[in-house]
Amino acid sequence: MNWHDWILANEVSIRLSFFFGIFAAVALWEVLAPRRVLMLSRGGRWSSNLGLVVLNSVVLRLLFPAAAVGVAALAEQQGWGLLNLYRLPDLFTVVIAVVALDFVIWLQHVMVHAIPLFWRLHRVHHADLDYDLTTGARFHPLEIILSMLIKFAAILVLGPPVLAVVIFEVLLNATSMFNHGNIRIPERIDRVLRLFLVTPDMHRVHHSVHAPLTNSNFGFNLPWWDRLFGTYVAQPPEGHVAMEIGLADLRDPKQVDRLPGMLLLPFVRQLGEYTINRRW
Ligand SMILES: [Zn+2]
Ligand SMILES: [Zn+2]
Repeated sequence: MNWHDWILANEVSIRLSFFFGIFAAVALWEVLAPRRVLMLSRGGRWSSNLGLVVLNSVVLRLLFPAAAVGVAALAEQQGWGLLNLYRLPDLFTVVIAVVALDFVIWLQHVMVHAIPLFWRLHRVHHADLDYDLTTGARFHPLEIILSMLIKFAAILVLGPPVLAVVIFEVLLNATSMFNHGNIRIPERIDRVLRLFLVTPDMHRVHHSVHAPLTNSNFGFNLPWWDRLFGTYVAQPPEGHVAMEIGLADLRDPKQVDRLPGMLLLPFVRQLGEYTINRRW
């Protein structure tokens, strides 16, 4: 069995091992050097946020058993997609594919903020009243399905190698837990780190209750897209400790931090003060 088949056969265990390893590391970091005092108790919030993770994994497994790597393998076999048409050195292809997929995710993130119907789904991620590594994993199942379909389309157009898709998914999962971490990183280090990686302080700005800040820092992995397209905000004006997290019009913990409320959130009639085109 070559490495290509090995990745396809072990995709789930590779991703699960990274998930648990990085989860444990960031969770420990949160205990040792927390950035903010959490508003709610961990028990209830974590079981709801992680409950959503389990639910999403089951939904994805049932709907798309071949997953993104399966689509990449199919594209490779059929010669579909740009990177399968133009043969470049392997390493170069993997780097281009990972960066391009990250850009697609960035565009998708801007889109789910801009389109009211999709904002209904994405609100579930933003409604969390606290900000820690489990926030990084909470997405409504319908948004997860939407993301997967967009990823499939991107893979068919791009034709990334299977290895690049696995690297990208592991990276996205890892950086999402890291940059939602309630962890303190010295400002000097953060400044250097955020030249090539979205840091917790950078992404936390995106979780502010203030709409113009919610409309900034859309990046998950690479911080460059926000700087390039003018959506970068360096720090929250109130500071990281005092800033309020969540959505201004959804403040009931029973609704936004308990699983049934979170699942129903997209269907709540009022859309709140919608954020598109708003500035300070
Ligand atoms: Zn967002
Ligand atoms: Zn987030």
